[in-house]
Amino acid sequence: MRGLWFYPVDRRGGEGGVLPPPPAGCRRRRGRLRRPGGRDGLLRRRADRRSGAAPDQSRPPLELVLLGTFSGPPVDPYRKGTASALVVDGSTYVVDCGRSSVTQYVEAGLRLDSLRSIFITHLHSDHVADYYNFIMLSALPNLSGDAIKTIDVYGPGRAGGLSPKFGGGQAGTVNTTNPTPGITDLTNSCTDAFAYSTNVFLRDTGMRDPRRITTIHDIVVPEVGASYQNTAPDMAPFVVMQDDKVKVTAILVPHGPVFPAFAYRFDTAYGSVTFSGDTTYSTAVPRLAANTDILVHEAENLEGYQGPPALADHLRKSHTEVQRVGEIAHAANAGQLVLTHIADLTHNPIPVPQWWRWAQQGYGRRVTVGGDLQRITV
Ligand SMILES: [Zn+2]
Repeated sequence: MRGLWFYPVDRRGGEGGVLPPPPAGCRRRRGRLRRPGGRDGLLRRRADRRSGAAPDQSRPPLELVLLGTFSGPPVDPYRKGTASALVVDGSTYVVDCGRSSVTQYVEAGLRLDSLRSIFITHLHSDHVADYYNFIMLSALPNLSGDAIKTIDVYGPGRAGGLSPKFGGGQAGTVNTTNPTPGITDLTNSCTDAFAYSTNVFLRDTGMRDPRRITTIHDIVVPEVGASYQNTAPDMAPFVVMQDDKVKVTAILVPHGPVFPAFAYRFDTAYGSVTFSGDTTYSTAVPRLAANTDILVHEAENLEGYQGPPALADHLRKSHTEVQRVGEIAHAANAGQLVLTHIADLTHNPIPVPQWWRWAQQGYGRRVTVGGDLQRITV
């Protein structure tokens, strides 16, 4: 939207239903978000990376870093694709790998050798566009002497079938021998597809064998009758992974025809963070996120949308409108609400103050309309 007084995303969030004022020195800009700490902060982070400095001890022990906050596959000039990093005592866990997430990860000052695990909520392209880049581009040491050590990846297994085409008619099918590959299949296919580059680098550089630094896990869904035809039956959260820093639980969420689609909750010694993934309304997210410290939730705005009503209805069955996301945070009794995977069918860039007011409806605690590279603490 042109002519809007668009100011950088408020990095403090808002409190108690009062819209925070624009930050001092706010200038008329067209969508570019200022980086945390400005240019000095950027240079300091780069210097830290070059020196191989140990994690900053002044950092909080639990920190959420929004790497990218845009919804959907199309390339957007204002926001990078959906991805988040959770840093727990210097160890990093990434949730979803949308467009540019590897670049954002480094830009945020996070070290690749701190990356322990990647969690994929579902296999839509806007959640995995940069996934294999984490493996392919980060297995070679960079100028900071920093590379991935070993990582575990957790994500959907094979869906097992495809739903009929929305609106009727026939749709083409790619890869008919395995039309619903899971995260293990996807990873193996990428490894094979990039074999030439990898084989050359294995002989010509210090690249590490991507097969040896990754352990891929197709998440096994408990027996609750779930399938691609019954994507999110009523179920209890189940444990996906536990190590010395985090316990990760998941639940199936309804996201149109997508199966499986997960929401994840991370419990740590310093608090909990729950990621909704992509979902429409259900009891699943409030159940998983009960009393969580931070609820990171997707949101879309359809207000003012003039397109086909059937498409709007279709979007409502896959996603959550920003005007109703506050109800979900309230039902979960979440300590604060952070919006990501932001979709607005009538504004770009989004009117942040308006989005903040919409998200606050039905919820009386802190709300943050997330911006790329924004850092949030409990
Ligand atoms: Zn999706």
